[in-house]
Amino acid sequence: MRRAVFLDRDGVVIEEVSYLSSMKHLALFPWTIDAIRALNRAELAVVVITNQSGIARGFFTEAFVDEVHREMSARLAVGGARIDAYYYCPHHPDGRVTEYARSCDCRKPGRGLVDRAARDLNLDPARSFVVGDKWSDIELAHAAGARGVLVRTGHGVDELRLDRGDAADAVVDNLAAAASWILKSLKSEV
Ligand SMILES: [Mg+2]
Ligand SMILES: [Zn+2]
Repeated sequence: MRRAVFLDRDGVVIEEVSYLSSMKHLALFPWTIDAIRALNRAELAVVVITNQSGIARGFFTEAFVDEVHREMSARLAVGGARIDAYYYCPHHPDGRVTEYARSCDCRKPGRGLVDRAARDLNLDPARSFVVGDKWSDIELAHAAGARGVLVRTGHGVDELRLDRGDAADAVVDNLAAAASWILKSLKSEV
């Protein structure tokens, strides 16, 4: 079983724009390509795990989310970086699109998406990492037995004001620093 790095999408891999619903607002952070390529080279599976309740809320469709992910992969490929798979939760209990308006086990901090990815890609969550900009990402990490890294991009700075700083295994500036922390952790295990 492989180790993985589960990446939150909005505010971690791409700019947080509050319900990305137009391709023209899609922007990788300047360090995203290098950070993901470094994880690829370390032979870690790189998997995006994202809550997309905008689908349940009727802001955009699953087809649009798939299109965003194709575009992200195309931009990453230009720099030799690769996301191995994308998993998203389209649900929300208060959604207005009937088919998605329910509670589920895949909305983070639930571990449904991690379990699905682990089955599909033969991953070992307990030896893996989660990088996110919300405490719910850190809760997911610990629910899955993984280590959780909180970044200060996206919602990260606001989340840190909630004073739960000791819950994360590391708090770092951005995805580049998160990748460095992960690679250093792996080296120190050997
Ligand atoms: Mg986020
Ligand atoms: Zn869900």
